[in-house]
Parts: sequence; C-alpha cells; structure tokens
Amino acid sequence: MLLFDQIPALKTYLRESRMAGKTIGFVPTMGALHEGHLSLIEQAVKENDLVICSIFVNPLQFNNTQDFDKYPRHFEKDINLLAPYPNLYLFLPDDRTMYGEKPTLRMDFGALEQVMEGAHRPGHFNGVGIVVSKLFHIVQPDRAYFGQKDLQQCRIIESLVRDLSFDLEFIMCPTIREEDGLALSSRNLRLTPEQRKHAVLLPQALFLARDLIQQEQKDFSIVRSRITDFFESTPIRLEYFEIVHSETLQPVQTIADTSRIALCIAGYLGEIRLIDNILLPE
Ligand code: AMP
Repeated sequence: MLLFDQIPALKTYLRESRMAGKTIGFVPTMGALHEGHLSLIEQAVKENDLVICSIFVNPLQFNNTQDFDKYPRHFEKDINLLAPYPNLYLFLPDDRTMYGEKPTLRMDFGALEQVMEGAHRPGHFNGVGIVVSKLFHIVQPDRAYFGQKDLQQCRIIESLVRDLSFDLEFIMCPTIREEDGLALSSRNLRLTPEQRKHAVLLPQALFLARDLIQQEQKDFSIVRSRITDFFESTPIRLEYFEIVHSETLQPVQTIADTSRIALCIAGYLGEIRLIDNILLPE
C-alpha cells in the first residue's frame, strides 16, 4: 500500500490518476481504525477506481486538550489493517504538514451547529469544517464517505459541500455496531471493562425511545423524560438526549412535526464521552 505523508506527492499522484480517467473515493478518519471505518472503506473501494483514506487526529476540532492527548493513536496497526485493500492509499500527514500555522479562519454553520455536539463542544465544527475543506482541496475526490454515527457532522459537511460548491458526491454510510448494540468508536478503546459493560445503555436508551415512539407515544416530552429517568442510578452521565428533524437537526415536539426524525444521545462514562443516534423510520 502506498503511503503519503506530504501533500505535493499525494497531489501529483492523484492528478496523474485523474488524467488517466480514474475515479477517486475519499474516507477521512482520525485512525484507531475499527469495523466502522472499514465499512466506509469497503464501500469506497467498491464504488471508485482508487481510494484515499486519511488518518489525522485534528487538533483544531478538540475543545478538550485531555481528550486530544488521550485520543488513541495506533498508526502501525492501522497500516496493517489497510494493507489488504486493493487500490487503497493512505494519507498520514502530521500537524505541521496540515497546519503550517494555525488557521485564523472561522466557519459558522448557523442553526445546524447550535444544537447537540456544536452546543456542547464549542469550536468543534469549526475545526471539522476547516480540516475537511483542506482535505477535500488536497484530494479532490469524486465521492466522500462519512458515517451516520456522527450524524451532525454529516449534516454540517453536506452544508459545507453545498455552500462551497465542492464538486463531489457526499455519501453517508450506516452505523456499525457491536453485537450488543454499542456503536463502534475509537473512544471505546479507552473504556475499562466495567465501563464497556455500561456503555451499552446508550444504544439501549435509543432503542427504548424508538419503541415508545413506534408504540404511538406522540408527545416527545414524555419520551424525553423516560430517557432521563432511564439513566438515573446508572454510571452514565447523560449530556443530552434529543429528538430532532433528521435534516435540520432542530428539536421536534411531536411526530406530526416531521416525517423523519433522529434520536441523538451523548453521555459520559468517567471522562470518556460517547455519542450515538438512530433515524426513524429505520
Ligand atoms: P473518526 O475516525 O471517528 O473521525 O471517524 C471517521 C469516519 O468513520 C467518520 O465519518 C465517522 O462517522 C465514521 N465512523 C466512526 N464510527 C463508525 C461506526 N461505528 N459506523 C460507521 N461509521 C463510523
């Protein structure tokens, strides 16, 4: 597998591939790869002549330095995981390569970022928007693949693609889960065995909310309070549980408000913060 750590070499390689008529798929990640990432890569490999996977733990999108410092970094293992894929190339830049100087640009995604992750992680989507824009400019993919696991990030990037006329197709891929329902996440690696056991409460809460709504609970304030109660006397500190419009991500009060909704959750196990969501109807 070819590995690029410098932008000019990658750009030259991609320019030549493009001139040879090859389509380019792109999967940006922060590494510590798991089956969730690999599902994006597999879809990209199927749909494009060549695929770039980037691994870059983007300092700009962390609002908590401890979270950044402790973010799992397993570059050797990641390289081994990617090696078997045909026509897959890795872009592994360091901080200096990506940001000679810290960008002063500020991105504002309006109402989309004023809820959930954006509300609880100030500056997070500014950092995501800047790094993804830079990567899109470098790679200039035909298709870019992102996980529904980070639904708000998907909506933000869709709006970025629209607003800045990036010439690519945005593709959202389904969330891959462990057998017990926990969404795969690089941060799961930081959980103690005890915390791992309790982490399953997050998807369980989503499934409980889904069941209530499917059993015709039309008043979402009741669903919200059932979920708040669900976490009482558990080790999870619920940060938010939201029932939102699946596209605008604005809170909805009743099923009559929209045809498609998203149930979104964030909670802490100790200092480790996990998020998850499901879309309804499924
Ligand atoms: P990350 O390395 O956490 O920044 O994730 C890189 C990409 O993989 C993002 O588009 C994520 O949404 C996606 N991703 C992370 N976890 C999963 C999962 N469990 N299932 C599907 N996609 C995922």
